[in-house]
Amino acid sequence: MSPVPCQLRLGRRLRYAEPVPPVPSPSAELLREVEILVQAQHPLLLVETVEENRVRTLLGYLADRLGLPLFIWDPVVGLEMQGPDGGRPAGTDKPGACLAFIEQADLEAIFLLPDFPSPAEEPLWAAQFKRIHRRYYRHRGCVVLSAPTVELGPGLEPLFSPFELPPPTPQVYHRFVSDLLAEVAERRPVSVDLSSDDVAELLRALHGLTFFEVEKIISRAVIEDGRLDRSDLDTVLQAKRRIIERSGLLEYFPHTERMNDIGGLTHLKGWLRKRYGAFADPERARRYGLSAPRGLLLLGVQGCGKSLTSKAIAAEWRLPLIRLDPGNLYEKFFGESERNLRRAIRIAESMAPCVLWIDEIEKAFGRGDNDGGTSSRIFGTFLSWLQEKKESVFVIATANDIANLPPELLRKGRFDEIFFVDLPSEPTRAQIFRVHLVRRGRDPARFDLPALAAATDGFSGAEIEQVVVSALFGAFSTEGEIDTASLLAEARATRPLSVTMREKIQQLRSWAHERAVAAE
Ligand code: ATP
Repeated sequence: MSPVPCQLRLGRRLRYAEPVPPVPSPSAELLREVEILVQAQHPLLLVETVEENRVRTLLGYLADRLGLPLFIWDPVVGLEMQGPDGGRPAGTDKPGACLAFIEQADLEAIFLLPDFPSPAEEPLWAAQFKRIHRRYYRHRGCVVLSAPTVELGPGLEPLFSPFELPPPTPQVYHRFVSDLLAEVAERRPVSVDLSSDDVAELLRALHGLTFFEVEKIISRAVIEDGRLDRSDLDTVLQAKRRIIERSGLLEYFPHTERMNDIGGLTHLKGWLRKRYGAFADPERARRYGLSAPRGLLLLGVQGCGKSLTSKAIAAEWRLPLIRLDPGNLYEKFFGESERNLRRAIRIAESMAPCVLWIDEIEKAFGRGDNDGGTSSRIFGTFLSWLQEKKESVFVIATANDIANLPPELLRKGRFDEIFFVDLPSEPTRAQIFRVHLVRRGRDPARFDLPALAAATDGFSGAEIEQVVVSALFGAFSTEGEIDTASLLAEARATRPLSVTMREKIQQLRSWAHERAVAAE
């Protein structure tokens, strides 16, 4: 692979008649992958993407290479053959009529159906796809469904061969942005004020955006003030945030916590510090004989800082933090839940380097066999991704309940380490008081931290925070101020979880003793 260019110059725009906006040609590997599917007579192909233009370009190249006609469907005009001799078979604008035409034509041709309604919506269409499959698997003719999401339904799922558009490489983004700047420069003066580091950062930030989005963001940025500079990096990051949230599967967390906001967990913090270099520069790590860190599993008592740690890691490593709520993955149609997971993974990978936080992982994969095997299938998909993933996505999975954790998840090699986050020790409790007093603008030197730590044996970090907050409310209502005595009074009035859930915590501890490393 050629090195990533570190300067942005105003290159010459490549001009394609179709599609608009123009996108760079597909990579040789992608073209080859889809060519093999067609040559191997896979008559029904599926590509879930928002990048319709890339699919059009790809299939244009493929049709050329295989010498096959390319038809593209559109709900207004129906099917249209591409190229100079193009024609439109009449009456194919309705989905059912379009499928009937394809079936009866029995043609060695590529039919692209972008944004076609999902076959699961109408039993007749599903039946028509099955008939097309029976006829077309005898030759190289194929139908390609392309849309951001497609519901196939249980009958069609096994008949479709999915393929993915891999994220463009930094070199390809570079070429696209240079061409784009050149085009804008033909119409108005444009200056580029980016150091080579800025260019590298910009290309990293663009990773995961579609060409259409890049075009919109970059054109707008340069047209606004006639220049592309560091301040435009923020706009790119905002755009990425919107993409993540639009998916409905993932949530983007802005950086609010730092490692200094966490009391204790010294061993875990040290472990992370040592791994940072290898994660930030996986190439150098590989040359040194190390593989890039995959991620970790944080097990522990409620309210002891597992979520806080996930946020702090992303902030320290200056990476986007993306949360996957496993509850959002489950859908009623067969196969849809796995597809949701694959889609979530694809989005996370397109945001790489990033931290993917899976909260309460036991809820995603520990559902037992009461759901017709959906959670086991999802789990299988997740494990193989975790094992083989190539993109820099650092996974942090958190769990409270070990009883429901599938044992495969705990096997060596899945995560780099399994940490147990226990109730905080006495010195850590003092630190946690300090963190929360400072956060609320109080000088910790005015408080007897050792006495507070001694009085809160068995309290979680969240409960200590609550002691501070409740004392503040009390003082606020009487227009007074908090002191050690009011904090001690709040602590005495609290019944911590370690009392109400003594047995459960004891079980968790003895389980973790043998299988996990103490975070403290
Ligand atoms: P749960 O399993 O219930 O989700 P958790 O282990 O993920 O709990 P957090 O959500 O991280 O716990 O903790 C809740 C809050 O308690 C944090 O936002 C933080 O304010 C406080 N807290 C917990 N542990 C610590 C700590 N070690 N240092 C500072 N604050 C802490």
